[in-house]
Amino acid sequence: AKARGRAHSVFFEPRQVSLARDNLVLEGQLGQAIAQEEFALLFQPQVCARDGRFVGVEALIRWNHPERGLLVPDAFIALAEQHRLIVPIGAWVLREAARQARLWHEAGLPLTVAVNLSTLQFQAPDFIASIEQLLAETALPPGWLELELTERMLMDDVPGVLARLAQLRQLGVKLSVDDFGTGYSSLSHLKELPIDKMKIDRSFVRELPQQRESAAIAGAIIELARGLGLTVVAEGVETEAQREFLLAHGCDQLQGMGIGAPMDAVALQAWQRARTSI
Ligand code: C2E
Ligand code: CA
Ligand code: CA
Ligand code: CA
Repeated sequence: AKARGRAHSVFFEPRQVSLARDNLVLEGQLGQAIAQEEFALLFQPQVCARDGRFVGVEALIRWNHPERGLLVPDAFIALAEQHRLIVPIGAWVLREAARQARLWHEAGLPLTVAVNLSTLQFQAPDFIASIEQLLAETALPPGWLELELTERMLMDDVPGVLARLAQLRQLGVKLSVDDFGTGYSSLSHLKELPIDKMKIDRSFVRELPQQRESAAIAGAIIELARGLGLTVVAEGVETEAQREFLLAHGCDQLQGMGIGAPMDAVALQAWQRARTSI
């Protein structure tokens, strides 16, 4: 038994073995989760920096795991990506976000709904067609749907990415660069990309306004975005001082716990009513 134990440990630490087994279990359950209706979307509000107007939401997935409770994306998205389960999960997110956007508009709430895309999803050969079909099925005006792509997704295979972005643009959906400043955007490529929005990563917002480097970077991103004619959104806005800095530097929209937490559709409506009745 001792010899066998040693042979194993050449390859895996016990912790890794249990982690791998854990992931195997989770992976199996992940495959069933759509059919079992275990996924849910939360929506985090985005407001206009200047007048506080409620302009849109970002859809954030949660997994209501039967034994483990509510799981955040960091606990399962990477696993879903490894096994390509992110493609059907991503399709579910898009459908659900579009359905909700439709309901809000019918209720007189003209919100844009932003959806996070994963690389595999964006690169799937039928991705553009699936968006086109979704828009047709839900009769959703395309400008209400926003797709968030990370810098990394935009920088490999630039010609291919450009072609896909152009097709999406043609459909009329909005395109947004997520976590800007943390990836590898080349500025010369950036100027060619048919995008609408840039989101300043939370890591730069967190230390505003005191930390000099973060203030310089956040200020520069805002200026860059505006120079390119893009809407600029700050994420992770928690404090009044951050909000003031961002507003003074010309940031268009704010998102973060200081504005509103990610909420389900019911809580979001209560949040919205509470602020308009002030
Ligand atoms: P992200 O796109 O950068 O989303 C923002 C994350 O920051 C969310 O975490 C949100 O809850 C959190 N957040 C918002 N405001 C604040 C704040 O003021 N302070 C702090 N500390 N955090 C804040 P969440 O929901 O855990 O999502 C994490 C990441 O998972 C997202 O990062 C996104 O990359 C990914 N993700 C979420 N939903 C989806 C999805 O449907 N599909 C894919 N492919 N990825 C998703
Ligand atoms: Ca995002
Ligand atoms: Ca982000
Ligand atoms: Ca992020």
